Amino acid sequence: MSIFNLFKRSTVKCPRCLGKRFVDWDDIRRLNRQLKWVPAPCAYCDATGRVPKEMLSKVSVDCMYLTIDLPESVIEKIKEGDPETVEKGKLRELFVDHLIQYSEHHHLTENLDAESIANLYLKFEAEKAPFAVTKEELIKYIQGVIELKKTVIE
Ligand SMILES: [Zn+2]
Repeated sequence: MSIFNLFKRSTVKCPRCLGKRFVDWDDIRRLNRQLKWVPAPCAYCDATGRVPKEMLSKVSVDCMYLTIDLPESVIEKIKEGDPETVEKGKLRELFVDHLIQYSEHHHLTENLDAESIANLYLKFEAEKAPFAVTKEELIKYIQGVIELKKTVIE
């Protein structure tokens, strides 16, 4: 055994981007994070392609909240398992899941388009929601939900 191994941190190929340093649509589909992520440099390995082994047990590879657009301090907190940050991440995912279900439901049962669903959401749901969204963001997002649903059904 080479003495240099003593100094090398034990790392593994990043399971999120498969070592490419970039999360693309294939990764997003593989991890079932359509509607939740867009292609971007990988936040799990910090775009290095490798992660410390212990990272795998600390943060799940498909942790939705951990994306590259977060401030570095928040990314650090997620990786450290800071309870408040982890809780906020969970809340964020629940919020998005609810929005997806809400959109699917109104599209499938009432055949509403994205704008009508957004209006309905803003009128009845937005006040209770833990995160604020603009109407423009909502319409774009709901459009994405409807389109994904179509490709799944076809
Ligand atoms: Zn990665």
